[in-house]
Amino acid sequence: MAGDSAGEGTVSQDTRNLEEGIVGLAAVLADAERLVVFTGAGISTESGIPDFRSPGGIWNRYKPVDYQTFLSSDEGKREYWRRGRNTYAVIREARPNPAHLALVELERLGKLELLITQNIDGLHTLAGSSSERTIELHGTAHRVYCMTCGATETRDAISARLDAGEAIPACRVCGGTLRAATIAFGEAMPREPLRRAIEAARACDLFLIIGSSLVVNPAAQLPRIAAEAGAYIAILNQTPTPLDGLAQLLLRGAAGEIMARVMPEVRARLAE
Ligand code: NAD
Repeated sequence: MAGDSAGEGTVSQDTRNLEEGIVGLAAVLADAERLVVFTGAGISTESGIPDFRSPGGIWNRYKPVDYQTFLSSDEGKREYWRRGRNTYAVIREARPNPAHLALVELERLGKLELLITQNIDGLHTLAGSSSERTIELHGTAHRVYCMTCGATETRDAISARLDAGEAIPACRVCGGTLRAATIAFGEAMPREPLRRAIEAARACDLFLIIGSSLVVNPAAQLPRIAAEAGAYIAILNQTPTPLDGLAQLLLRGAAGEIMARVMPEVRARLAE
């Protein structure tokens, strides 16, 4: 069982205990046989993409337009593309940080069963995580599709049209409504990726959460499913979450900085 070498109830919440937490996380990662990692906006803040709920996060400034508002009016669509233009400009410039790279390495080491992300920034893919073992639960900001005919375009192509002054870009094939390949607020999640995520959470022996406030579903639901099925739960997050009580290992700090220190320890343990 993944948790044995770290010891039940290891909690590392301050700098004094940080070293212990890093060693503990490396130990459970090295021991894990079926690792599932769940990531949120916090894994990408060190890459320059603000999260939603931290102080100074983008919740208020760039809160995406909800699905009904987008569908129901031209004003909603205009606002959707205006806000999307701002957020995509930030996403396009971002590069993976050591936490994204650590997950690529864990996959290459044969450790990773599944990487489930809420992020739409594509940084796991850019870092090198495989599409077979990565689920982007909320879709990707890098693609746009037509709601009428299904034609797809890159977000870069649409960005260029927005930059050239189009307020509501229409499909070049059929004139239909374009939208980003992301799940909008108030929109149902696609069933199959969610089913696969739930199944993986149920079957894993280590469920590692990195950079999520764990307040909305399915973020709030997946760790519970894993815990109920007996998995060891580790949370690496800068601030407390409502699910901290589920975790045997709790690490407070910056994901990139911490994973950069965890991975040499994982390598050393695997080489033993
Ligand atoms: P959230 O904003 O609700 O929570 C992020 C959490 O990460 C916070 O608890 C914060 O303390 C923590 N955090 C911030 N920086 C960190 C760091 N360097 N290391 C470790 N932890 C750090 O994010 P969420 O739970 O993912 O929910 C937000 C929703 O918004 C998601 O659905 C996501 O799709 C979307 N979103 C995505 C992006 C992105 O793609 N990068 C960015 C913002 C929001």
